[in-house]
Amino acid sequence: MCLDEAGLDAEEWKSRTVEVQQEAKEDVTCDTVVVGAGGAGIRVALELADNGQNVILVEKQSMVGGATNLAATYFVAVDTTYQQEDGMKISIDDYVAQTAETNPDIDSDRLRLLLENSQESLDWLNSLGTNITRPLSNYQVATEDGSSLGAAIVKAMSSALEQSSVDLRLDTEAVEILTENGAVTGVRVRDAGGEYSILADSVVLASGGFVSGTEAVEKYAPEWAGLPSTSAAGSTGEMFGLVEQIGGVLSNMDVVRLNPSVHSENGVNSSLSAARAEGGIIVNQQGLRFCNDYYPDYTTLSKWMVEQEGDYVYILIDQTAMDNSKRLQGFKDMGYFLEADTLEELAEKMGVPADNLVKTVEAYQEAVRTGGDEFGRTNNLSIDFSNPPYYAVTTSPGLQVSLGGILVDDTMRVQKQDGTSFDNLYAVGECADDGLFGCAPTNINITFGKMVADQILGR
Ligand SMILES: Cc1cc2nc3c(=O)[nH]c(=O)nc-3n(C[C@H](O)[C@H](O)[C@H](O)COP(=O)(O)OP(=O)(O)OC[C@H]3O[C@@H](n4cnc5c(N)ncnc54)[C@H](O)[C@@H]3O)c2cc1C
Repeated sequence: MCLDEAGLDAEEWKSRTVEVQQEAKEDVTCDTVVVGAGGAGIRVALELADNGQNVILVEKQSMVGGATNLAATYFVAVDTTYQQEDGMKISIDDYVAQTAETNPDIDSDRLRLLLENSQESLDWLNSLGTNITRPLSNYQVATEDGSSLGAAIVKAMSSALEQSSVDLRLDTEAVEILTENGAVTGVRVRDAGGEYSILADSVVLASGGFVSGTEAVEKYAPEWAGLPSTSAAGSTGEMFGLVEQIGGVLSNMDVVRLNPSVHSENGVNSSLSAARAEGGIIVNQQGLRFCNDYYPDYTTLSKWMVEQEGDYVYILIDQTAMDNSKRLQGFKDMGYFLEADTLEELAEKMGVPADNLVKTVEAYQEAVRTGGDEFGRTNNLSIDFSNPPYYAVTTSPGLQVSLGGILVDDTMRVQKQDGTSFDNLYAVGECADDGLFGCAPTNINITFGKMVADQILGR
């Protein structure tokens, strides 16, 4: 359809376009430019603006939130008031020791620092209205009504953003990190009108991970090329190449987290991790459990799953889990679950041997009663399948989070190849290799995001 047919004045339309281009191409200056309006970027930008800085936040997508929007279930935090009140007690030191046992490469001091600040981060989020107050275990806190964690965080933070002085520029992609004599001076960005430079005293990269980028997965983590991604459309990882161009270091790029609970329907990949967190068990197409189905290393768990016969396994829950989670209720409404009043009936719908499924659930009920699970599961034994109806959903592994990234030092400054760090270039969140291997992503966004702002503010 031409412009006239659409009732538009062609001349006026042309001049409008030119005007936008000229405006968009002017260089601008600010105190700090933040790249990426996910959880980490918004946290940094808000803290800086609240403390008087002139902040520009650029986001290549037309909405804020990134992969943070998709964070499904729990905020990793230990020894918070919520857990203390519920008797879910573990000390920070014990949790750090436990985590280091599963992942010996983890930086225990940084994990301790993160956890010691978790209560403050939760208090800050809850003061914005997130309601992350329901302990799921001694290291997990969820929203009170079981609605999606990330959606609650992004909703609350984006209304704070709207009320702040942060200059948010959507549909604006950072395409180069600017340097002069080795010092970082800002970023070059591109929007619909063209390119321009944002010159700043400090630059914060909060550009997220790469698992939705076909090329990036092939380049950095080829072992997993071809798996579906549950992450956001913007998690395509071009920033990593830009950092390398200025002599920044990337590390652990091949380390990714798989999501063992991806349900694919009509081309949409959804994370059903809430079903596991609310106490679900995993059975194969024989109706049998085959591993510790709450094993904390999701990539190992995913490997166990793909060793089973067939393309998928099932997560099984009962009505108690369903009642506890709005997110699961949403998936039920979308028709993702098979549902039945008895296990025998459910087995028939699943196409698994009914006697196996019944025996599996009976053995698990005993494990919940005694605490002695044959596969060594000790976490999230929160349902005992005594409350029908029962539900089953098919899942298989997908790519969820990249765990390596831009190497940062203890102050979250980007490290150079010569072992020193850039004075005024920071990286935080999923794009950074902060030594924690994404063991607490949304907590890292909030806690380390605040830490980066504190560094910039000289606090
Ligand atoms: C399905 C799923 C479930 C998850 N569940 C949990 C959970 O239960 N608990 C938990 O803690 N974590 C969970 N995570 C992980 C967590 O959501 C993310 O790792 C984390 O929130 C990433 O935050 P971020 O701010 O670093 O990146 P993002 O939120 O991804 O934000 C980065 C932003 O940068 C933008 N960007 C990228 N490049 C550029 C550029 N060049 N210029 C401008 N903008 C750019 C992107 O578009 C994006 O909006 C889950 C993740 C997924 C995908």
